[in-house]
Amino acid sequence: MENFDIAVIGSGPGGYVAAIRSAQLGYKTVIIEKYDTLGGTCTNVGCIPTKALLDSSHHYAEASHQFGDHGIKLETLAVDFPQMYKRKSEVVSKNTAGLDYLMSKNKITRLKGTAGFINNSLIKVTDEDQSIEINAQNYIIATGSKPSSIPGVEIDKKRIITSTEALSLKEHPKSMVIIGGGVIGVEMASIFSRIGTQVTILEYADHLIAGMDHELGKSLQKIMKKEGVDIRLGQSVYKTENSGSSAKVFFRDKNNAEHELEAEYILVAVGRSPYTAGLGLENTGIQMDDRGFIKVDEKRKTSVSHIYAIGDVVGGAMLAHKAEEEGVLVAEIINGQKRQIHYDRIPSVVYTWPEVASVGFSEEYLKKNNRSYHVGKFPFSASARARASMDTEGFAKVLVDPKYGEILGVHIIGARAADLIAQAVIAQEYEVTAEDMFRISYAHPTYSEALKEAYLMASGQGAINI
Ligand code: FAD
Repeated sequence: MENFDIAVIGSGPGGYVAAIRSAQLGYKTVIIEKYDTLGGTCTNVGCIPTKALLDSSHHYAEASHQFGDHGIKLETLAVDFPQMYKRKSEVVSKNTAGLDYLMSKNKITRLKGTAGFINNSLIKVTDEDQSIEINAQNYIIATGSKPSSIPGVEIDKKRIITSTEALSLKEHPKSMVIIGGGVIGVEMASIFSRIGTQVTILEYADHLIAGMDHELGKSLQKIMKKEGVDIRLGQSVYKTENSGSSAKVFFRDKNNAEHELEAEYILVAVGRSPYTAGLGLENTGIQMDDRGFIKVDEKRKTSVSHIYAIGDVVGGAMLAHKAEEEGVLVAEIINGQKRQIHYDRIPSVVYTWPEVASVGFSEEYLKKNNRSYHVGKFPFSASARARASMDTEGFAKVLVDPKYGEILGVHIIGARAADLIAQAVIAQEYEVTAEDMFRISYAHPTYSEALKEAYLMASGQGAINI
C-alpha cells in the first residue's frame, strides 16, 4: 500500500495538468495511466496528431493550388503518405516525451496500469500481472471519453473506423464516407480531401458544426464544397456493412428515400461517450447521470466528498482546454482556494482552413431567448492582410448588446481564427464593451483588424474599410 495526498486517474489534458498543479501546490501526487504514453486522447489520438496532419495536408493543398499565384513553381508534387504519418507520430512522441519530463520535473509519481476503486478510500492499480493498492486523501478522476456510435453502425476498426484508426492508416485511402459533420468529422474530411481522398460527409442536422453559430457552418460548407467534399445534410444513417476491401453505408434523407454509398472506409464521428470502464465506480458512492457522465457539482466534486472528476468524463464541452481548466480548478480547490470557471467563456475551435472559432452566444441562441443584439460582420475579403496571403475566405462576426455594448458572442471563420478568438475571450472575461475593443490600436496589416471593424459595425459606427 502506498499513500499519497492526491491520486490522479488518467493522464490526458485534465489529468496531467491536475497532477502538475497539485505537485506545484506541495501535494505528494501520483498519476496513473493505463497506456504506455502520457497525454490521453488529446496528445495521442486527438488534438495533436490531427493538427499535425491538418498542417501537412494544408501545405500540400497550398502547394497544389496557390503556389503558382505566389510565383513559386514546383515541377512535381506528390503526397508521401507514410512520411506524412511518420511526421505526425514524431510530433506526438515529442509531446509525450515533454509530459514525461514535466512529471519528473514536478516529482510526480507515475504508475502504469488501470486504476479501479476498491471502495471510497482505496484504489487498486493493475498492470498485466502486478497490482498495487493506493490510498490517497483526494482522488481526481480524469478518465476521458471514447468514440460513440449509432444504432446499426458497428465500429470494427477495419473498414468502419473512428478518428483513432484514421490516425494510423497504413495507406492513402481513395475514398471515405464520414458519418457526422461536427468538429472531428470536418477536420478529418479536410485532412483526407486535401490529399486526394474522395470524401463524403453524411450529417443528420441541417448544418455542419451544428453546435456553433449557424452562419459559420453554412460558410464552412461552401468552402469545403469548393474543395471537393461531398456534403449531404439531413441524412439519417441506419446501417453499415464491412464488405472486405470496402464498406457500405445505408441512410435515409429527409423524404425517407433510401440511399447507400460504398467507400474504402466509413469513419464514424458522431460524438464521444464518457469512459469509466474498469474504474470500479460501483464500489463507491459516486453517481452517474443517465448518459454515463460522472455527476459533479460546480467544484467538480462527485457525490463522494474527497473524489473529484474533470474533463470529458463529466461532460460539458469535450475540449482539452476545458479539461485543463478543471484540472487547475480542482487542485486549487483541494488547496482551499476560491476558484471558479466561466464555462460560457470557453472558446470552441475547428482547425479546418480557414479555421473556425467561437465564444459566447450564437445568433440562434439570442433569438430563441428573445435577447436583442446588434451584429457587426466584417469579411476577410476586405482585409489587406488576408488579401496579401490570399486567405480571403470568411468573416468575423460580433454580437453586441444594443444598450450597454456588452459583447455577447464572437464568431470567426477565417485564417488564424483559432488564435484571434483569444482576444474575444479576454474581452468577455473582463466584460469590456465593443467600443472599448475598437478604441484600442490593432497592428496593420493583421487579421485582427477584421475584429476591430466588426466591433465598430456592431456599435453602430461604420466600418472604415468597407
Ligand atoms: P483524455 O484525454 O481522454 O484522457 C483520459 C486518459 O485516462 C486516457 O489516457 C486513458 O487511457 C486514461 N484512463 C482511462 N481510464 C483509466 C483507468 N481506469 N486507469 C488509468 N488510466 C485510465 N480538443 C481540443 O480542445 N482541441 C482539439 O483540437 C481537439 N481535437 C480533437 C481531435 C480528435 C480526433 C479527438 C478524438 C478529440 C479532440 N479534442 C480536441 C478533444 C480532446 O481530446 C478531449 O476533450 C480531451 O482529451 C479530454 O481530456 P481528458 O483529460 O478529459 O481525457
